[in-house]
Amino acid sequence: MTQNLQHAIARIAGLGDAHSVVPIQGSGTFAVEAMLTSLLDAHSHVLIIENGVYSARMTEICRIHRISHEVLRLDPYQALDLVLVEQRLQQSGHITHLAAVHFETALGVLNDLEGLSRLAVQHGALLLLDVISTFGAMALNIEPRRIAGMALSANKCLHGLPGVAFVIARTDLLLQNNAPRSLSLDLKAQWLGLQQDGQWRFTPPLQVLLALQQAIQEYEQHGGQAARLKTYALRAEHLLAGMRQIGFAPVIAAQYRAPIIMTFQAAPGVMLPMDQLHAWLAQQGLHIYPTRHANPHSFRVGVIGELSMLDIDELVAALARFVALAATEGREPDPRCETVCPH
Ligand SMILES: *Cc1c(COP(=O)(O)O)cnc(C)c1O
Repeated sequence: MTQNLQHAIARIAGLGDAHSVVPIQGSGTFAVEAMLTSLLDAHSHVLIIENGVYSARMTEICRIHRISHEVLRLDPYQALDLVLVEQRLQQSGHITHLAAVHFETALGVLNDLEGLSRLAVQHGALLLLDVISTFGAMALNIEPRRIAGMALSANKCLHGLPGVAFVIARTDLLLQNNAPRSLSLDLKAQWLGLQQDGQWRFTPPLQVLLALQQAIQEYEQHGGQAARLKTYALRAEHLLAGMRQIGFAPVIAAQYRAPIIMTFQAAPGVMLPMDQLHAWLAQQGLHIYPTRHANPHSFRVGVIGELSMLDIDELVAALARFVALAATEGREPDPRCETVCPH
């Protein structure tokens, strides 16, 4: 089953023969940490392009493991700026790797990794990519040999359960003689172990692997990447239209958005008590994501997973009710009430 999953992930990635798929127990962050600690050695120096929470996590990982790195901190409301990346590459002569996130899920910002890969070619650098929130839905058109590693997990656009993640690594780099920085996150040992006897070194998350096998079967039956992206795009459009009608606007400009998750804010002057909003929605079976964005009256709505257009209609209607109640009552709707509380 593990081998079938490795083949399926490789097929979806479409990178070809030079790469190997290494599964790792844990959520997506475990794969990012395994990727950075296993593929960067004593001679590497990585530039982390930070424009959100998830790229900042890469920096933290490098700091903890004392991996030679530098950071280019950019505006989290925009895609990474290739001009600034190029300037940094020119200034700092010794960058061997570029690390970046495809879709910064905290605010919903899509980065141009194809553009980044062109810079990597020009400057002889390799890429270490977090594609966790896009893998399976948004394809990348990057020359495969440029990709040293790419981290993904079962539980985003593949619709599996959380508990297993993967690193797709260039096999020649994976097999280099680096001293391991971690026992359980050592990609080379994990891969060699699976190659030798098909066994995981440590207890595998069997139920999660079974769920992923089923999820990938459904993914392929339903038409794979293009079909999934189309489904998400229709949902995102429907959501945007509904939200605009009730006075919510997306925080991120259209050219940086992707139909995965979107951050919305209320019209100026509309107060949204967020704790109450989340509780009130959850009470009705509707779950959205809080955000730590500068505008406290903002929140995120994801459109991936097993959702329908009706779910989106229900959310928009509930939000409209909440806003109306908060405005007329001058107080928050009571989260303990099934419907609207008679005050
Ligand atoms: C979900 C996600 C991760 C992984 O987060 P976990 O909490 O470990 O699941 C990493 N990067 C991005 C861009 C993500 O969306």
